[in-house]
Amino acid sequence: MGQAESIPDINSCWAKDGRTPRIAIVGAGLSGIGAVIALRQAGYTDISVYEKADKIGGTWRDNRYPGLSCDVPSYWYSYSFEPNPDWSHRFSYGPEIFKYIEFVAKKYDVMSVVKLNSPVTEMTYLGPKWTLKAEGHEAQIFDFVISATGILHHPNYPDIKGIDSFKGDMFHTARWDDSVSLEGKRVGIIGTGSTSAQIVGAVTKKVKHMSVFQRTPHWIAPLPQKKYSTLWKSVLRACPWLHPHLSNFYKGQMLSSFAKATIGDVVEQRKIEQLCLDTLAKDVPDAKLRAKLTPSYKATCKRLIFCSDFYPAISSDNAELVTDSIEGIEPEGIRTTDGRLHELDVLIVATGFKVSEFMLPAKVFGENKRELSEVWDGAPRAHRAMTIPGFPNFWMLEGPTGPVGNLSLISITETQLGYMIQCLDNMKAEKAATVVVKQDVFESFNKAMAEAVVSTTWATGGCDSWYIDKTGTPNLYPWHPSRFYEEMQQVDFSEYEFSQQA
Ligand code: NAP
Repeated sequence: MGQAESIPDINSCWAKDGRTPRIAIVGAGLSGIGAVIALRQAGYTDISVYEKADKIGGTWRDNRYPGLSCDVPSYWYSYSFEPNPDWSHRFSYGPEIFKYIEFVAKKYDVMSVVKLNSPVTEMTYLGPKWTLKAEGHEAQIFDFVISATGILHHPNYPDIKGIDSFKGDMFHTARWDDSVSLEGKRVGIIGTGSTSAQIVGAVTKKVKHMSVFQRTPHWIAPLPQKKYSTLWKSVLRACPWLHPHLSNFYKGQMLSSFAKATIGDVVEQRKIEQLCLDTLAKDVPDAKLRAKLTPSYKATCKRLIFCSDFYPAISSDNAELVTDSIEGIEPEGIRTTDGRLHELDVLIVATGFKVSEFMLPAKVFGENKRELSEVWDGAPRAHRAMTIPGFPNFWMLEGPTGPVGNLSLISITETQLGYMIQCLDNMKAEKAATVVVKQDVFESFNKAMAEAVVSTTWATGGCDSWYIDKTGTPNLYPWHPSRFYEEMQQVDFSEYEFSQQA
């Protein structure tokens, strides 16, 4: 199960030598852990995982803010090989997901191949091998590199005048400071995305005053949360065959409503919009506040928020929605353009993530020393969200242009892993040393995506969002996710060059 003792000759071909390939995985979040388990089950056991932090868990390690929960149903947001009858709620809370990840990693002996505190700094393709450098380690040689870094992990700090002068406590939501109590404090939060909605919903009751700085209102649908009973959990434990049905049920719900709305289905899009408007009308009695909270763009253009606590919280007496723009940050608080100083003890920065980086700032050099950051130039692209021409034996899980949004990233990762393992098996059978997507295949796939994406709600909805990249277009899979699942079932090997040259 562990790593191979011997380091392969740089010029050897694992498939010809009949040895298992050396595989490096970057990141020990849900994707990286899932990759270790799936690869081992397929017989690929020589794996090393490089994790930048001192713990595994990715998103669910970094995000520890109050109210953190997943808005994808628990039975779908689980590994298919490790269904969990003990999920306490229909939508799991962050700490429970983190515990589940740790449980899976332990049960499947993943930790034996994880190197913690090991940020990868450089990966260089020296055909047919990759050399990988990570802090605290000698450079290592691998046959394959799998980047499993996720998308939302580089905090985006706003460029606001005077931000460093604030004399209270200030932190980004993904760097929550547990040593700071919010109890009885004057708290400000910049941003009104999914993260902010959950925090405002969770903490407003206990703070003295909550100021929410909104640049753009977001569409918010209620979260149909439900606590599972002990009886239900024991039924599930006794009937494990129920799990795939439950997972499929929730998947079907998301695919038939939300997923359709995002790619331009007007009927589904309006249904969601009406649900949000009804919720707003019910939960926010003040007409002026309601007007400020009503978006002027289409629902599902930005990532739809599912949260039932935000509207009641922002309507409470100790909360204020500030819609005047931020002029600057001063030692005492935030100055808005109307001249008012909003005095604060704690400032929470809920301004999202830098989404175009993936495994960067690690330097990634492909064939002919081409650097990935230059190839992407702020607008990352990939074939089937996994591979890039000129970067042989390099795979991404949850790479650019994938079907992210309100879907289960675990199910996407598992689909991608199945696809990647088919390629590895093919290499083994063909005794191939390298695999790389063909340039023309990559170009026509991306051209088709670019043509399709213009009619999605992300593009036509009249909003700006983290989905839009430097080119001004959404960096997402533009078709219905069922097409993604279907196309990824069986690899069309003609899309790739398999070379026996070692
Ligand atoms: P986000 O959706 O990108 O929202 C960032 C917020 O900060 C927006 O309201 C944005 O305003 C505002 N903002 C950014 N820069 C600003 C500036 N300079 N001045 C003022 N306001 C600024 O980030 P997020 O809420 O952290 O969520 C990111 C993603 O994480 C979500 O879309 C979702 O995919 C995922 N997530 C999921 C869950 C869940 O499952 N429940 C929970 C949290 C996060 P504008 O709208 O005007 O740009």
